[in-house]
Amino acid sequence: MFFREDLFSDVKMTYEGSLVHAETSAFQDLKIYDTARFGKVLVLDGVVQTTQKDEFIYHEMLTHPFMLSHPKPEAALVIGAGDGGVLRELLKYRSLKKVVLVEIDGAVIDVAKKHLRSICQDAFSDKRVELLIEDGAKYVRQTQQLFDLVIVDSTDPVGPAQVLFSRAFYADIYRILRKDGIMVRQTGSSFLQPLEIRDSFRILTDVFSEVLPMVAAIPTYVGGFFNFLVSAKGRTPLDVAFPTLNKRYDALRLQTKYYNPEMHFACFALPNYIKEVLE
Ligand code: SAM
Repeated sequence: MFFREDLFSDVKMTYEGSLVHAETSAFQDLKIYDTARFGKVLVLDGVVQTTQKDEFIYHEMLTHPFMLSHPKPEAALVIGAGDGGVLRELLKYRSLKKVVLVEIDGAVIDVAKKHLRSICQDAFSDKRVELLIEDGAKYVRQTQQLFDLVIVDSTDPVGPAQVLFSRAFYADIYRILRKDGIMVRQTGSSFLQPLEIRDSFRILTDVFSEVLPMVAAIPTYVGGFFNFLVSAKGRTPLDVAFPTLNKRYDALRLQTKYYNPEMHFACFALPNYIKEVLE
């Protein structure tokens, strides 16, 4: 059978695959399809979230540029990310003492553990992980904990994720970041959702002193480069010398399949059409 991803009213993607799980949680419609091309695919409210075959790109790029360039990252906060991929990559760092993961929908974690083990592996049971099933916006508003890195790996700005694109949310994150802290978030497809990065960029440059766009090519996030915005209180991921980064990369034996020290710098080089959206 073929299933259709209704990305937009005028752009849809179809994939051949069989439905292996379907449920409606308190927050969204969850489906898992098993496909020859991409392995198992997690679909939330009709939108492809992650696939077993290409998830490594997104989860490596949402983690390593910030962890490897930080001298000693000890505490990280992850918002969303119920598939466990970001958590798996974060836990490769021995310096990390604590990761708080705040996912609003526990059903996503249950489905990941059952059907997407190649993505989450044993990340959710690592003793450094504190798992909270609640709204990420509420958590950042109330927590007194401080973090070196905040990763916002949410769905697009609709439904429960809408609050994760607000100025108040970013101001709360600014408050809970340590001096050299960094926040990174996905901001959609450069070609099909240009306003998502433009709007987020405008709000973030109001709150943070440094906001750097970053790109990666992710096959199942269609529409050209996939965009990320990196917000820093001071030090940015580019404030590290290549030899230092290389040494750390080799020492950690990260075994990444997309990220590497060369890509660390290349992913911040933008094509003009993205620069123009931000001007
Ligand atoms: N990798 C995917 C992407 O790039 O779009 C998203 C990963 S993950 C599946 C997105 C998660 O964000 C979902 O599990 C969803 O439940 C969660 N989420 C949405 N709104 C949230 C909120 N307000 N607080 C915490 N988690 C939220």
